Amino acid sequence: MSLDEFDRYPLLFGPSPIHPLDRLSRHLGGARIWAKREDCNSGLAFGGNKTRKLEYLLADALARGADTLVSIGGVQSNHTRQVAAVAARAGLKAVLVQESWVDWPDAVNDKVGNILLSRVMGADVRLAPDGFGIGVKESWQRALEEVRSGGGVPYAIPAGASDHPLGGLGFANWAYEVQQQERELGIFFDTVVVCSVTGSTQAGMIAGFAGQDRPRRVLGIDASAKLDETRAQVEKIARDTAGRIGLGRDLRDDEITVLPGWAGDRYGIPIQSTLDAIRLTGRLEGMIIDPVYEGKSMAALIDLVRTRDIPADANVLYAHLGGQPALNAYHTLFS
Ligand code: PLP
Repeated sequence: MSLDEFDRYPLLFGPSPIHPLDRLSRHLGGARIWAKREDCNSGLAFGGNKTRKLEYLLADALARGADTLVSIGGVQSNHTRQVAAVAARAGLKAVLVQESWVDWPDAVNDKVGNILLSRVMGADVRLAPDGFGIGVKESWQRALEEVRSGGGVPYAIPAGASDHPLGGLGFANWAYEVQQQERELGIFFDTVVVCSVTGSTQAGMIAGFAGQDRPRRVLGIDASAKLDETRAQVEKIARDTAGRIGLGRDLRDDEITVLPGWAGDRYGIPIQSTLDAIRLTGRLEGMIIDPVYEGKSMAALIDLVRTRDIPADANVLYAHLGGQPALNAYHTLFS
């Protein structure tokens, strides 16, 4: 099957915008940096990378007659907020299990930002005590069972919409969208920098780019502080997605790169380089990034450009995957 043959429920405004970050590029004095903006890819609750993945999962949910999307994430999960938005848009219900993935002692952590938006959109939000983990959880199974026993038809969406047969398709499609935008802009992005946690964003990109003529580097930046798990998940989903969209060859190991060094010790806890990256990007470009994900991938990009690991003549595409609502829960870091 080719990518075009999968059902997709359109949720985006169209191709997400690409624009240069000129002041940041000049400041770093090396490669030219551009951003592709998933944070403004749609009109759905501030967008983000999951909205793109959910185009495929929602089509499947509707085809199966589901009436309730059931998903899981941390208290400040961007993913569950996007599930709530997508459910609202399609006229479905949403049940969201929000676990204690981050030990972040802020009094408003479970009241503002993403979780607030999910409540505004009418989702059934359930706080659960379990810690960080992207696998199948009992609390999620219980929520699915409750929908079934109430006569509903649930559709199960794992954390980050990643460990799902259709999870990689959204960003395989992104890779083809980039190729089309490159033709229009007259540019080739030889390096892509992307944050990785549950894995299907980077995995989808790898599978989509692997089917194109010109090779490029897709540098995944681990933000989970569990490098081996992140890399294993990216590899599994990339290989699966490549097969699913008919790549016709195995992915090589060197096509799968997930770099450590910017996550700190724990998922969800920013370190100095994260905060420096957030401030620098805000002050030079007016572009807002978050302390859990994009602040970490931007810190990596800044270092890799400065050290010339990304050479000075490179054109770098920074995948801005959204996530800004979580900043509200981290207000003390900026007061
Ligand atoms: N950036 C943001 C803002 C996210 O919400 C996520 C979700 O986990 C990621 C990056 C990482 O994407 P993935 O989980 O597909 O690896």
